[in-house]
Amino acid sequence: MLNLILFGPPGSGKGTQALLLKEKYNLLHISTGDMFRMHTKNNTGLGLRVKEIMDSGELVPDSITIEMLEEEVRNNPQVRGFIFDGFPRTVPQAQALDTFLEAKGEKIDAVIQLNVSEEEIKSRISAREKISGRPDDDAVKLLKRLEEYFNKTIHVIPYYTSQDKVSKIDGIGEISDINISICEIIDGI
Ligand code: AMP
Repeated sequence: MLNLILFGPPGSGKGTQALLLKEKYNLLHISTGDMFRMHTKNNTGLGLRVKEIMDSGELVPDSITIEMLEEEVRNNPQVRGFIFDGFPRTVPQAQALDTFLEAKGEKIDAVIQLNVSEEEIKSRISAREKISGRPDDDAVKLLKRLEEYFNKTIHVIPYYTSQDKVSKIDGIGEISDINISICEIIDGI
């Protein structure tokens, strides 16, 4: 199996790169943000629980997120591996994922960190807001999301650095060039 984490702030290109990588390596792309949005769109019980939190730009509680993620992995036993996009976003989520994968005899193979400046993030998300219709892409909500990122999510990097799994990539440039850099890392695993 090949299990990858695409890591980076909102607007760093995780989703875009995940779509390219899932085709090339035949992996299942799991975006917890997309899953939550599907639930809110369909007004499921989970969707109703998380809508307000998501719209505010805050993180959904770990217990809810971990349960949803693990269920999705369990529901796809036949795949070649996973691309985790937007998960883990806290150290407890990373620990839970390690424990969960270990119990299946699996592990995370690489954490690819996309580095993008705050200025670039703001400009990308403001452009995306016009087409995404996402309430959390508005400038004020984006600030909250960045606060969550710098307060909680960034700590996931030292967690995986201590396992020697993190590769940093410059996330600014042509999508195809960034993709080539990521593929070089994956091919070197
Ligand atoms: P994203 O599409 O990855 O930017 O996620 C959109 C929103 O979904 C986030 O701002 C959170 O409210 C929620 N969310 C997505 N993934 C997670 C996660 N791993 N942990 C907590 N909340 C999450």
